[in-house]
Amino acid sequence: MARIRFLDLTFAELREILLSWGEPKFRAGQVWRWVYHNQVFDPAEMSNLPKELRQRLAQEFQFSLLQPLERIASQDGLTEKVLFETEDAQTVEAVLMRYRERNSVCISSQIGCPIGCPFCATGQSGFVRNLSAGEIAAQVLYFSQILRGERKRVTHVVLMGMGEPLLNFDAVWQAILSLNDPRGFGLGARHFTISTAGVIPGIERLAGEDLEVGLAVSLHAPDDALRDVLVPINKRYPLKDLMTAVRAYIERRGRRVTFEYALIAGVNDAEAQAQQTADLLQGLLCHVNLIPLNPTAGSSWRPSPVEKVRKFQEILEENGVRTTVRLRRGIDIQAGCGQLRHKHLLKEN
Ligand code: SAH
Ligand code: SF4
Repeated sequence: MARIRFLDLTFAELREILLSWGEPKFRAGQVWRWVYHNQVFDPAEMSNLPKELRQRLAQEFQFSLLQPLERIASQDGLTEKVLFETEDAQTVEAVLMRYRERNSVCISSQIGCPIGCPFCATGQSGFVRNLSAGEIAAQVLYFSQILRGERKRVTHVVLMGMGEPLLNFDAVWQAILSLNDPRGFGLGARHFTISTAGVIPGIERLAGEDLEVGLAVSLHAPDDALRDVLVPINKRYPLKDLMTAVRAYIERRGRRVTFEYALIAGVNDAEAQAQQTADLLQGLLCHVNLIPLNPTAGSSWRPSPVEKVRKFQEILEENGVRTTVRLRRGIDIQAGCGQLRHKHLLKEN
């Protein structure tokens, strides 16, 4: 008989199962706390539970969903990337970034990605399947366990790894709810950020949810012709409609949205394109992250040179658009989206 995948359960589902086993009401809270608060995955160590229950949990539940295959740290040791193997022998990756006062975990929502942005290693590798809620939460808990040993904790979770989170909304949302639950992990809603290539129905749904998480939109081009190429889902959800959805989101939430713009030499980094971007974002409560492209094996595009990045930034700022230039962390460990998995797939073939 297949075991019950613990991390795929909501709290309510766990409570139902334990009640059906004849356990008292408070039991679900205890077990939930062991896993989500203490990151203990072995029932034998759940010391406040009766012995028979611990045995039954071990028999009928499966607590770990992802096996780390490869773990590499950047030279400065601050960034760590892990390639996990799923039960069906697929691979997904996640990254931990340590800053002075925060520890951010960048996680995946899908195996591969159906959107197929040509500059992105994940997009280049095609789409396999959605991750389950448990597989998404497991990535965060894995790093949380590591940080625990350093008396630190995960302070931010960003869905900027492999995949398009808003095309796997249900599982992503369940994982966020589980990690947000104060009975366990208890990470505040505002400490989660969902990055999307611009899936409008997802943005609309997000705007109506009770929990208020951060939203980042991958812009990368200020006009439809170029964005159709760089972010192909633009053909389905063109810029005008996307901006309407983002505007509605900001109005509803009263909260700043982040736009991501990967600067690709000679493709989207011209001064005229900076001006167009500024016009597009004029008056919007937003922030733009300018990220020089992280080169990938499947594309000959290169990052914009520093002067171009500065000029692009200057034009946006002159037009009242706030920006930050983000240097991609951990280039030496293939910390770009989907790059470690890509390397692994090459090795296998
Ligand atoms: N699918 C979502 C989230 C995952 S990608 C999205 O596209 O937003 C997270 C971010 O990394 C996106 O902004 C994406 O465009 C960017 N990205 C992907 N590959 C990149 C690369 N090679 N260099 C720079 N940014 C990249
Ligand atoms: Fe998918 Fe995002 Fe990569 Fe585009 S950038 S292929 S949407 S993961």
